[in-house]
Amino acid sequence: MSTEYKEPAPYKRGEANPFESMMVRFDKAAELCKLDEGLYNYLKYPVKQVIVSIPVMMDSGKLEVFEGYRVIHDNILGPSKGGIRYAPDVDLDEVKALASWMTWKCAIANIPYGGAKGGVKCDPSKLSKLELEKITRRYTANMLDVFGPDTDIPAPDMNTDEQVMAWIMDTYSMHKRNTVTGVVTGKPIVIGGSRGRREATGRGVMIATLSALKKMEINPEDTTCVVQGFGNVGSVSADLLHKQGVKIVAISDVSGGYYNPNGIHVQEAIDYVAKHKNLAGGNFGDKVSNEELLELPCDILVPAAKEDQISAHNAGNIKAKLIVEGANGPTSADADQILRDKQIMVIPDILANSGGVIVSYFEWVQDRIGYFWEEDDVNNRLNRMMREAFENVYSTALKYDTTLRLGAYVYAIEKVAEVLKLRGIYG
Ligand code: NAD
Repeated sequence: MSTEYKEPAPYKRGEANPFESMMVRFDKAAELCKLDEGLYNYLKYPVKQVIVSIPVMMDSGKLEVFEGYRVIHDNILGPSKGGIRYAPDVDLDEVKALASWMTWKCAIANIPYGGAKGGVKCDPSKLSKLELEKITRRYTANMLDVFGPDTDIPAPDMNTDEQVMAWIMDTYSMHKRNTVTGVVTGKPIVIGGSRGRREATGRGVMIATLSALKKMEINPEDTTCVVQGFGNVGSVSADLLHKQGVKIVAISDVSGGYYNPNGIHVQEAIDYVAKHKNLAGGNFGDKVSNEELLELPCDILVPAAKEDQISAHNAGNIKAKLIVEGANGPTSADADQILRDKQIMVIPDILANSGGVIVSYFEWVQDRIGYFWEEDDVNNRLNRMMREAFENVYSTALKYDTTLRLGAYVYAIEKVAEVLKLRGIYG
């Protein structure tokens, strides 16, 4: 069978391709749950790949043409869902891999979505706001047959934000001749966004952490935690964990890190970053590099910055008992076995950071019913869904005597395969 697991070639830190790492885990999980070869092939490849060209009259008066992509990995559980990224190096392969990642994330979260991803090859740092708007509107117009609240629902990703989502919603609505808020999520609250969306991913990280500590029979108030990355996910995770009694002993961002075994005042750090853009120049503890930070003594490590931070290179030096992956792909596949041998519990990205897509789902539901929930409603529902997702993954891992990461993939694959079998193959 073609699902045979192959160990990835050894690589040094910083050289891993997180998507290849993801596919290695998918293959291993497919092998574990003895996924039928036909279904394996079905799930390995996307159902639709669209490439569009985006002509834009630039501010200089020069015509430039950009390339845009949208890949639907599957729509077995429902309309496909996934962000759109703007970056100079984005390409079809990357978008394909990210689309399948969304399939597994949505299946684990038990939300009725398939997986998708989109991108435009451009450098937003070199574009004016007007050029960005023109690219977004033309990309959307070219994707009119793909996007839709019942078919494919984009969201923000790298270099796209609430404003870009508002332009997508407006362009789509202009063509449909009525306002269709449910075509994208991650919109400003005033045009159909959801309360609680901004904090959702960090809140999910906090809920997943508490669920794991309960299994480990550890009281949150007796724990210390190190957080790498102090943007949306890292700062909210640190703040909410701190409010649960966890002592945050180190934080970092791209400018470097700080270690204070007596505990960092998280709110002061958040205020500092709001004023100074990053942690540079702050007085939060002893300075440490991002590499040293990962190896500090602590109970919980939350990598919430970027991919490929923990690999075979440093996994052996990690002292935390629990790793909660706020970022996407922070651990490369070659570290999995090392962490397992050290009995470190790892809550994988596709579970740990799924709070964002869960509240995106809430946004879509609220847009469709035209009734908007209080923040407490959003948070309570998120709490329930994250806990359920954690339990499902935990029991799957126990059943297959494997890690939470492979348990998560197995749970997702089995769920999608079951629905696919029930729906049958048309044609
Ligand atoms: P962000 O841009 O708000 O923050 C990123 C943070 O990481 C910043 O503090 C930045 O300074 C820091 N950083 C960058 N490079 C670093 C490095 N080399 N070492 C240490 N810190 C570094 O981004 P975000 O939205 O918080 O996303 C962080 C991660 O979480 C990404 O992997 C993203 O894909 C993932 N994620 C985000 C969401 C969401 O809802 N925002 C949802 C799911 C997953």
